[in-house]
Amino acid sequence: MTAQVFAPAATPHPAVAALPVSGDEVVVGGVTLGRLAARVGSTPFFAYDRQRITDRVHEVRTALGDAVRLGYAVKANPMPAVVQHLAGLVDALDVASAQEMRTALDTGTDPAHISFAGPGKTPEEIRSAVAAGVLIELESETEARRVVTAGNELGIVPRVAVRVNPDFAVRGSGMRMSGGPQQFGVDAEQVPDLLRYLSTTGVDMVGFHVFAGSQNLDAELIAHAQGATADLVIALAEHSPSTVRYVNLGGGLGIPYFPKDRPVDLGRVGESLAAVVGDRIGPALPDADVHIELGRYLVGEAGCYVTRVIDRKVSRGRTYLVVDGGMHHQLAASGNLGQVIRRNYPVLVGNRMAAHDVEQVTVVGCLCTPLDLLADDVPLPRAEPGDLVVVLQAGAYGLTASPTAFLSHSAPAEVLV
Ligand SMILES: *Cc1c(COP(=O)(O)O)cnc(C)c1O
Repeated sequence: MTAQVFAPAATPHPAVAALPVSGDEVVVGGVTLGRLAARVGSTPFFAYDRQRITDRVHEVRTALGDAVRLGYAVKANPMPAVVQHLAGLVDALDVASAQEMRTALDTGTDPAHISFAGPGKTPEEIRSAVAAGVLIELESETEARRVVTAGNELGIVPRVAVRVNPDFAVRGSGMRMSGGPQQFGVDAEQVPDLLRYLSTTGVDMVGFHVFAGSQNLDAELIAHAQGATADLVIALAEHSPSTVRYVNLGGGLGIPYFPKDRPVDLGRVGESLAAVVGDRIGPALPDADVHIELGRYLVGEAGCYVTRVIDRKVSRGRTYLVVDGGMHHQLAASGNLGQVIRRNYPVLVGNRMAAHDVEQVTVVGCLCTPLDLLADDVPLPRAEPGDLVVVLQAGAYGLTASPTAFLSHSAPAEVLV
């Protein structure tokens, strides 16, 4: 069966329309929701659909061709089973903490294909990274000096790349991480000095990394950023003490969360990337492997957050569904993770997909704060205590981007189905 439109007049969010349904229930990873909830044994929980992750990687590979290597940014979803699954599908893992590095190493991925980015790496984390043999993406001169020290102490030649903060910003990113003053990367104009220092140290300087920003849905802007990034890297490469073998162009492909969001035109991104690699990077830096790294785009749409209705109450004309989960597990859906104007994530009542008695409701979590709002004034089938509310687009920056200790409830389960 296909998904039913529960509010006949409204166009469902594409994420809702894309979900398989069997009878009254949504199907996650081939399992009907009620059965999955019974199998997990408790609510709330996060469920990630293995096949959807696999399909998404294949779509990206098809669009990008084989001129570009694909990395997974572990911070989007560091659940070990998810990282293990992706390790078998992508070319590289990008980590941003020592714990993420251990998760990545546990998958059996060759350390040569793990990169460690992020500001504020401690001397201990740097030492672990040097010992592990992963690629360290330098965010400052201080880090460079610590890497050199760790390499000398351990008798290991560290592999490094320079993360560059470009002298341009990328428009269209939901979260901008480059251009102007930044805590990320080394300002482009300071890179030649850093390279001069590295040339005196004996570290293996393999290349450059630029990550412009996250959650960008505009293929033209992404394409433009990748072209500008390539030109910047080619210019900086002239100062490199060694042959450039690694160019990481970042990624930042977004997913549609809100009704007006349109999916990224992946074909267009692939075409422009092929041109950037074939016409610019290839001729200028023939030994370079070109990477992009994606987090949210690979896992975000493959995950949902499932929470049970505990109470249904009407307050002065407004109907509230109070659920057993909330912002402490899925902060982003509450609008408190970087949203300026709060908008609703796509939600549904996962065991009433065929119902026709739709009502306007507000779904709130169980935390004693007005911030704990999961869906504000949305049309949903009439739900009762015991029903399962499903928040979609929860596969990235969900559990680990949420304040789980807030109000001291227990942590939710996570399953890869
Ligand atoms: C967070 C991050 C990513 C992943 O970003 P998405 O928007 O989830 O794709 C990639 N690279 C770096 C360096 C990051 O910090």
